[in-house]
Amino acid sequence: MTNNNIYFVANWKMFGSVKSVNSLNKVISYSNTMKLKANIIYCPPYTLIKSFVDKTKKSNIKIGAQDCHTQINYGPFTGAISSKMIKDLGGKFVIIGHSETRAENDNKKINLKIKSALKEKLNVILCIGEKLIDKRKNKTKYVLKKQILEGLKNLKNLNKIVIAYEPVWSIGTGIIPSENDLKKNIRFIRNTLKISKKFTKSKILYGGSVNLKNIKNLMRIDNIDGFLIGGASTNEKIFIDIMKKSIN
Ligand code: PEP
Repeated sequence: MTNNNIYFVANWKMFGSVKSVNSLNKVISYSNTMKLKANIIYCPPYTLIKSFVDKTKKSNIKIGAQDCHTQINYGPFTGAISSKMIKDLGGKFVIIGHSETRAENDNKKINLKIKSALKEKLNVILCIGEKLIDKRKNKTKYVLKKQILEGLKNLKNLNKIVIAYEPVWSIGTGIIPSENDLKKNIRFIRNTLKISKKFTKSKILYGGSVNLKNIKNLMRIDNIDGFLIGGASTNEKIFIDIMKKSIN
């Protein structure tokens, strides 16, 4: 992997309290000393976006949300957050299509969410990945292709979209794909994007149980542009050590 401009996306899911903002201190200091340019993006719960944005204002760290509504502006959608609101808070990114939200989101809805995010000039992290049952039935490629083509339907400019390949069976389980499978699937995603012509420069991240033990092996896989990290990113020391191991 070429590690200049590498991505480290911290997905905090439903974790964190008001005090959690202090856990950014060391990451901010570390990011200021990094020799290579890296994209460090925190996606805390909605409740913490504003305080994370304020805290990281003078650093290179960017803040994002974990989802958004299909509607751009405002509307009668109880419990929902729009792209406009994320932007208003100072968020620059939004994760769309995470497997933990896909039960309520088919590819069509994901496509609308991406369009709403792009209208507000947010960067999108589109999560795709097969379930264990798909893998067992040899349907991984079918699922990935469908998620890519339907999720990105009618989109011409993908330079604000990063793809995160996250096999669902790998998220939070401690199990990661074999080097061979990962290489193969990342290559397949890249080719699928390439075939549709417009998406040749897309960045592709890997997500699923990234930790201190497996990061060195994952770094050996060329063609990955960075990582989406869940559990391990909520501990600042571990998160920094993962970044250190990736970059040095
Ligand atoms: C995730 O939430 O996208 C994720 C990859 O989680 P974890 O790193 O905990 O498997």
